[in-house]
Amino acid sequence: MRRSFWAAAVALVVLLSQSPTVARVSDPVKDLPPSEILKKLPRHEDRELLREGKARYETLLRAEKAYTPHSYDVLHYEINMHIDIPADSVSMAAVFIDCRSQTDTLTTVDLDFYGMIIDSVTVDDVSMSYTRQEDRLLVPLGTSVSEGDSFRVGVYYHGHPYSPGYFGLVIDPDVTFTMCEPEGARLWFPCYDKPSDKATVDLNIGVPPGYIVASNGTLVETVVSEKTPLTIYHWSEDYPIATYLISLAISQYATFSYWYHHDGDSMEIACYAPPAESANAAADFANLPEMLACYSGLFGLYPFIEEKYGMATFPWGGAMEHQTCTSWGFPLPGNQYYDWVVAHELAHQWWGDWVSPGDWRDIWLNEGFATYSEALWWEYLYGDWGLRSYMGEMQDYYLWWENSAYGERFPIYDPPPGRMFSSTEYEKAGCVLHMLRFAVGDSNFFDILRTYGTTFAYGNAITDDFQEVCEVESGQDLDWFFDQWIYDQGYPEYKFVWSFESQGMKGYEVNVSVAQVQENAPVFNMPMELRIVTALEEIMDTIVVDQASEVFQFVIQDEPLSVELDPKHWLLCEKEEIHATEPILVLQEWMVDDQLGNQNGWLSPGETVNFIVSLENQGATARGMTGVLRTHDVAVTVVDSTANYGELRFNETGSNEATPFVLSCAADLVPHWATLDLVIRADGAFEDTVALRIPAGDPAILLVDDDGGGDEDLFHMGLLDSLDRIYVLHEVSKAGSGLDDLGAFDLVIWFTARQVSNTLTTADQESLASYLDSGGALLISGTGLGNDIGSTDFYGNYLHANWDGETTTTVLQGVAGDPISEGTLMLLFDQDGEQDVLSPDAQTGSSSCLNYVTGGSGAIKHESSYKVFYLGFGLEAARGDNPNTLSPYELMDAILNWVLGSTPVEPGETAPFSHPETFSLANNHPNPFNASTRITFRVPRASQVELKIFNVRGQEVKNLLDDAMGAGSYTLLWDGTDSQGRAVASGIYFCQMKADAFRQSMKMLLLR
Ligand SMILES: [Zn+2]
Repeated sequence: MRRSFWAAAVALVVLLSQSPTVARVSDPVKDLPPSEILKKLPRHEDRELLREGKARYETLLRAEKAYTPHSYDVLHYEINMHIDIPADSVSMAAVFIDCRSQTDTLTTVDLDFYGMIIDSVTVDDVSMSYTRQEDRLLVPLGTSVSEGDSFRVGVYYHGHPYSPGYFGLVIDPDVTFTMCEPEGARLWFPCYDKPSDKATVDLNIGVPPGYIVASNGTLVETVVSEKTPLTIYHWSEDYPIATYLISLAISQYATFSYWYHHDGDSMEIACYAPPAESANAAADFANLPEMLACYSGLFGLYPFIEEKYGMATFPWGGAMEHQTCTSWGFPLPGNQYYDWVVAHELAHQWWGDWVSPGDWRDIWLNEGFATYSEALWWEYLYGDWGLRSYMGEMQDYYLWWENSAYGERFPIYDPPPGRMFSSTEYEKAGCVLHMLRFAVGDSNFFDILRTYGTTFAYGNAITDDFQEVCEVESGQDLDWFFDQWIYDQGYPEYKFVWSFESQGMKGYEVNVSVAQVQENAPVFNMPMELRIVTALEEIMDTIVVDQASEVFQFVIQDEPLSVELDPKHWLLCEKEEIHATEPILVLQEWMVDDQLGNQNGWLSPGETVNFIVSLENQGATARGMTGVLRTHDVAVTVVDSTANYGELRFNETGSNEATPFVLSCAADLVPHWATLDLVIRADGAFEDTVALRIPAGDPAILLVDDDGGGDEDLFHMGLLDSLDRIYVLHEVSKAGSGLDDLGAFDLVIWFTARQVSNTLTTADQESLASYLDSGGALLISGTGLGNDIGSTDFYGNYLHANWDGETTTTVLQGVAGDPISEGTLMLLFDQDGEQDVLSPDAQTGSSSCLNYVTGGSGAIKHESSYKVFYLGFGLEAARGDNPNTLSPYELMDAILNWVLGSTPVEPGETAPFSHPETFSLANNHPNPFNASTRITFRVPRASQVELKIFNVRGQEVKNLLDDAMGAGSYTLLWDGTDSQGRAVASGIYFCQMKADAFRQSMKMLLLR
């Protein structure tokens, strides 16, 4: 029995007056030209708006995502509430909760409720004591209730509801509304606030005259109490509803209706909008009858067909799929631009409301389904073109989002805290459903949706339930699909290269090499369409790509003109065609194996070593690959010059570890860079030469790359190269720190770039301290060193610095009396980060070499039995493009001269950098490159210098420099754009330098 709290309040029953149906104010958007239709695709900011509000709530109040079993089942809520809108309060509320015990020994009911003031609590009409604990309300039942037995809890309360950040029950004279997903229903009525316990609900909501209450289900009656005065709206939701979907929207609305006609019957679509905007709202919601027909056809008849569908505006950024009564907070432009949001919220009536998530880890079953349904509406309107256009935008959006500043990579199932309403659960999950459709076929896919709906109708489902329906309906085991797309993260990044050979009468053999190059994601296993176009036909085939690198072979009749992967854009992926008909071999790394020698890792005087070279193939498959190593260096002998590489496919790396080269070094030599040529041959008369350079003899410099995996190592190597210094590189990210044999070097250059933690570990500090104690020299740089280790003994005792904080200044000036910097300025790139400000420790003999113009030192040096030069910024941040300031080259050169003495003399070269003897153009770093590459050149005397980039066809792509240059060494950056600033395609480019009679070109490989 349900007792009516309002029995005494009856005065006048107003019969529901049916609003006249509003005629369609515009035709369906179907008739627009394609260019106009595409303008209705969601904009990024609107996709954000759809999610952002809900996301805000998730972080505001915790939502425990995992399902927790509880000991009673809520059957029905009766919510009686007077809202005194001018007073911003609930003047009285009485909520009755009909429950059934699910255990034999239920003695206490644990409800969710937060805020407002409780007046009394009853159990089966008997007053009970109660306890409140944060957002819990514990009600003792006074007895032990057996499994299956029912009882009724009553909670009487009043007060101002707690409504943080526009959530919960927000009372406002303009619009009073509720917004509770995921777990905010407890802010306005006591309940079991989990989506897994659905119940029916009656709402008797009293509001001041003039206000209209829109809510769930059917409006049973409207009662006007003239005494109070108050209008009481009685809404009844007879279909089970989750607490987060119970809603109120209260305003002085204008109302209008549409009707959905089905099977000779009709259902009202009740709309509530501000009077001034009702004409626009009528236009914006005009497609609802047709949308209901669309989704009823695809998913099964609208699940709340005995009641209604509704739209009620509320002043909240976003929209919310309240059961049978969506709350609408998007603009109402009157041109149906937000049609896709109308569709999204309507689709939630099936996905979220009809079938609700088992717990919040399954949120994609709501949002991914509603998001994909947006595309299904476009398919309904515009056919296959509409579906492809919509999905293309959705895929692009997700790829953009994941790589944006707000993006993050994580699995769809059970998103991390604060990410329930992220693009992963919306657009990515939508894209995953599209791929599922591709994997199982259209007919299976729509059978799956309908069966999933009817199986879990008015109840709950979890991801496993959905997968089981998919497997039964499709007859396939789909672990492979769910494991990678739902339970793992990321997406495939395909690169492919294709080539063909004429087979005479047999036609043409086409080889397509496909690589997956994604990081931090699995190797994906996906079927994929492939299209080969010839002059006469288009050939479609389906391949299954499930390896990191694979080759697919086709024999076709005519010469292929193009090959395309996934031409219909089924897959969420990135793909890139590499234009190469031959192998492109790129040096990955070389290794000196001197296990039988002195084991220092390089070619020491008198040593014989194994030499291993790793190459990556960025082009067509190389088969039967061999290598021959040669050198003209008189101090180095190639003892064993041949190696086998076997087959190297596109994007694979191979080494000659099994057949190492053998090198020996003269016992008596000046340390220098030995140049080696590795001649690679492969089947099909392929031949290419890879140039290598290794230190021969014992280098004086150890370069420690501690930039956290950045590319500042390339900058430092380029710098030392152009200064003709010989060094050994140690990469901390690959080899770890743990350097304990520093004594072999005269100078250690250690850079931490923009790292802010783990700069120098305690072990690093210890090994550097003992190295310096035995008379070493250290050049150390980094913007975050002081912040990280400024309080250590090493910082004061060995770097001789005090850390004074950080600065954003990018201008340094020289120090009077300092031989390096006096009278100069040094400019830094603005890296939107801070530089360390140091103060030299004069007591122990350090002094400043560069000061920030706003005060404080940026570089200090110390000399005693050892030498230290310490930069509070990254040397790579120093600008070298202004001839009037101190460049990183000049600073590095001066430091090297201070530590090591004059520039060493190499065989065949005598030029110190500052006065180069000849023009030269050095190899670019890095090469191959992706974002940008540095091009270094030298000018021996003032000259007009021209530097241009050409493509393989000899066309000029960009003019990098055409200017009068003074003598010196320079570096230019090429960012892979043409003269119009457009990114150029992957491939080979040439940089040509001209100066006086000097001409030199160099080959560069851009890989996007
Ligand atoms: Zn949604």
